[in-house]
Parts: sequence; structure tokens; C-alpha cells
Amino acid sequence: MIFSVDVEDWCQSVLDNNNPVTDRVLNSTLRLLDLLEEHDQKATFFTLGNVAAKHPELIRKIVDNGHEIASHGYNHHSIFNLSPKQVREDVGSSVKILEDISGKKVIGFRAPDFSIREYLFEWYCEALAENGLKYDSSLFPMKVIKYGIEKEYSLKIFNKYHLNEHYLSYMKVGNMKLPFFGGGYFRITPYFLTKHLSKKLNQDRAVFYMHPYELDTEELSAMKREFNHIPLKWRLSQFVGRNTIENKLHKLLSENNFTSFEREYYAEDSASIPRNTLSNLDHEEKESTNMGPENIVAKTYFSS
Ligand SMILES: [Zn+2]
Repeated sequence: MIFSVDVEDWCQSVLDNNNPVTDRVLNSTLRLLDLLEEHDQKATFFTLGNVAAKHPELIRKIVDNGHEIASHGYNHHSIFNLSPKQVREDVGSSVKILEDISGKKVIGFRAPDFSIREYLFEWYCEALAENGLKYDSSLFPMKVIKYGIEKEYSLKIFNKYHLNEHYLSYMKVGNMKLPFFGGGYFRITPYFLTKHLSKKLNQDRAVFYMHPYELDTEELSAMKREFNHIPLKWRLSQFVGRNTIENKLHKLLSENNFTSFEREYYAEDSASIPRNTLSNLDHEEKESTNMGPENIVAKTYFSS
């Protein structure tokens, strides 16, 4: 299973993109690094360029601990609000600062708020490929309030740019796809249910995601003091369950084997081959064994 982390400062990335990056992101990410180390697990850290600029020592610590540094853009601007040129610049500047500080090649990207739509695929993929990236992990294959893609989509454009897509995990109930393996869904779902559902996922391809700020149980009162008022929608969606997540993470990390995208798929000794399949549930896995265009990219990628 892949453990992925979106490194951002809540006050800047969610509340208002114009706010400065604070030390809260540093402290909560250090706490998550300790947790991962305690369980001897590795992860991919999709990190904002503005966090790297403010806390370069954090980037070095993530890499020194054996984790993968990947990009989450520079300022957490939604892709659908940017022009193609702005996306190229946003991706490029974040990749550059992360590579300069870490000394490592950045190969992965996750769009802020999973803000990808099918009509954006062409120039989004072009921007990623131009910046030397090999994979994306931004497709949230179901529609929820803030993000996600409702209908089935084709990954032909990703294949055209030799980009692998590692979409987020979900469960299927009838014809509905429902998220559960990360973020607020992980926080509000009782752990026994998460455990039960996660066993149904393809263990090689399941993608868990979270933000360091979800460990920060004092942020809401700090934000209320600073800004007087935090809208109810944020209080409900962003802060509920933060007091339960550390306990759940201990269980999750002790019961599963996690790693980074880089170690699982892109290192010289990686055993797994990335496949641009549309789903990672076991029964659908069987249905997708035909060699459609989604599967061809992995073969061409590794034979070149
Ligand atoms: Zn984000």
C-alpha cells in the first residue's frame, strides 16, 4: 500500500491562499515523521513549494528519513482556476525548489484539492511531462462536494505523455463509489470499518492519503483566536475527528505495510509495474486484465 501525505499549512492552503505559511506545518509534519519512524514505514510527501521555501530543513528531514519528496504545486491554487501557462509555472517552480533543497529528482505530482477535470487533462499532462514528472496521483474517482470526477474517464492523454496515474482508493457500493481511505473520510469512519474495507483493496495499488495538519488538535482554537470566526463548513469538514486520527494511524501503520510511490514503482529494484487501471478493487482488477490503452503505458515506459 502507498502512504501519501499532502504537506501544506492549513491556514494558507485551505483558509486563504494569501495567508503566510506558519510553523504549524513544520511541527505537525515532524510529528507525522516520528509516527512513521516508530512503525518503520515509508511514504510519499507531496509538498507545497511555499512550505519548502519557508522550512527547507523540513524537506531535508523528510528525505533523510528515507521518504519520497513529490510536488503538490507551489501555492495550493486549484488547477481549474489557472491558465495553462500558470499551471506550467506553478508545477515548474515547485519542482525546482523541492529538487534544489532535497538534491533528489522529483517524479510525482498531486494537484491541490484533487482539482483535475477531464477537460484539463491535455495541458495538465503536458505541464507535468515538461517538468520531467513520471506520475500523477490526483484523480479522485468519485464526485464529492469539493472535488472528484463523477463519470468514467479515459487515461489516453496520460498515456500520450507517458504519465502514470495512481488514483485514490475507494469502495464500491452498488454503482456508487465512496471514499474512505484518507483525509476526513478516514477521520470520521470507525477504524474497524476502515480495516474491513481496506482488506478488499489491491494491496499493491491502494493509496492512502492524509495531511499533517490533521494531527493538529490545537489548530481550531488557535485559528479562532487569530481570525475570530471560522466558517461552520470548515469547522465540520476540516476539524472533526482530528482527536481520533493519531490513535487510528497507530493501528493502520501497525497492521499494514506501506511505502512510497517511488519505492513501489520507480526505483531500480521496484517489483511493481504501474498500470493506469481505472479501479483497484479486486473484482474490477480481474475485469481489467485485457490490454487496453491504460495498460500499455507501463510496458512502453519500462522498455524504453
Ligand atoms: Zn492540498
